[in-house]
Amino acid sequence: MPGDVETLAGQWRSARPPVAGIHADSAACSRQSFAVIDAASRHATHEAEVGGYVAAEAAAPALDAGRAAVRALTGMVDAEVYFTTGSNHGLDILLSSWPGERTLACLPGEFGPNLKIMAHHGFEIRELPADEFGRLDLGALGSALTSHLPALVHFTVLGSHSGIVQPAHAVISACRAHGIPVIIDAAQGFGHLDLADLGAADAVYTSSRKWTAGPRGVGVLATRPGLLPDYPRQQLAHAETNVGLHVGFSVALGEHVAFGPAAIQARLREVGAATRAALDHVAGWRVREHADEPSATTTLRPPDGVDPMQVRSRLLAEHSILTTYLGVERAPREMHQPALRVSPHVDVTDEDLAAVAAALAAVTR
Ligand SMILES: *Cc1c(COP(=O)(O)O)cnc(C)c1O
Repeated sequence: MPGDVETLAGQWRSARPPVAGIHADSAACSRQSFAVIDAASRHATHEAEVGGYVAAEAAAPALDAGRAAVRALTGMVDAEVYFTTGSNHGLDILLSSWPGERTLACLPGEFGPNLKIMAHHGFEIRELPADEFGRLDLGALGSALTSHLPALVHFTVLGSHSGIVQPAHAVISACRAHGIPVIIDAAQGFGHLDLADLGAADAVYTSSRKWTAGPRGVGVLATRPGLLPDYPRQQLAHAETNVGLHVGFSVALGEHVAFGPAAIQARLREVGAATRAALDHVAGWRVREHADEPSATTTLRPPDGVDPMQVRSRLLAEHSILTTYLGVERAPREMHQPALRVSPHVDVTDEDLAAVAAALAAVTR
C-alpha cells in the first residue's frame, strides 16, 4: 500500500541525519541512523567510565541480540555467529582454514576481491554455468557439478557489479544433494533480499555498512556449528576489536527487524523498478537489469565514448549526487566495460530519481 510505503520511507529518512544531496550508493555504504551512531558513541563513553573490558561484558546482551538477528535473517537457526571486520575478512577466515581439496566453483560474475582471496589461498576456480546476464543457469547446474565435482561452492547471492538476484536457496539444495559444502557471500544480499531460507548453507558472511546501514569496518560470519577449526574460532573470539561498532551494527540489525525485513525488501524492489524506469535510455545510458529484477541495484552501461568514472565525479561535484563507478576489476571474469551503479535505499523519492536522470543527461553531454 502506498501509504505504508510512504511511512516506511519517511521513518527511515527521519531516523538519520539529513542527507547532503542525493545518496544513491547503498550498495557501497548506506547512511547510519542516529540510534546506531549514538549506540557506538555511548559504548565508547562507557569504556571511558568503567574500562574497556568491563564495558564489553556489559555490552554482551546487545551483541547476542545482533547474533540472534543474523540467525533469524539467514534461517541458520543454530549457527555460530562471529563479528568480523567485513565480508572479505569472513571469506579469508573460511578459506585460510579450509581442510579439504582446494577447488572451488563460483559464478562468472564473482566479485574481484573475492577471486584474489581464493587465489591467495591456492584455490583453483571453476565457473558455474550462467546465461548472458550472468544469472546462474539452474538447468545446467546439476550436470556441471557432477562432471567436475568441486570441493566447495562459493555463491554470491547478489553481485557488486549487477543487480541480478541469484538463486541461493536452489544452489544450496543442489550442493547438499551432491555433498558439496557451500559458502554464501551475502554482502549485497543481506537485509536487501529475503535470505531467511539459507539454513542449510555451511557459511554465510556479510558486511554491516551496505544495506543494513550499520557502521563501517564491521561484518558477520555465520557458520554451521563446528565448521571453523579451533584456531580461527579463538582468534575471532579474542582478537582486539572495536566493540562499540559491534554494538552499533547490532542496533542497526534491531532497527531492520523492527521496520520489518519484508517491508524493507518490498520497498527496495519498488525502488529498483522506479530507478530503472527513470534512468534507462537517459542520454544513451542503458540499464543492464530487467526493469522488475527484484533488487534495488541498478547498473548503467554508458553510451559510446562516455567515461563512467568521469560521470560519477561530475554527478557528485556538480549535482551532489552520490553513485558508484564500477571498474571491470569488480567482476573481472564477466565485465567487459566500466559502468555506473545507482543504489538508493528505501527513502528515495520520485523527485530524487528525476533529478538523477536530469543530472545524468547534463553531465553526459
Ligand atoms: C562489498 C562486497 C564484499 C566485500 O565486503 P567488505 O566488507 O568490504 O570486505 C564482498 N562481496 C561483495 C559481493 C561485495 O559487494
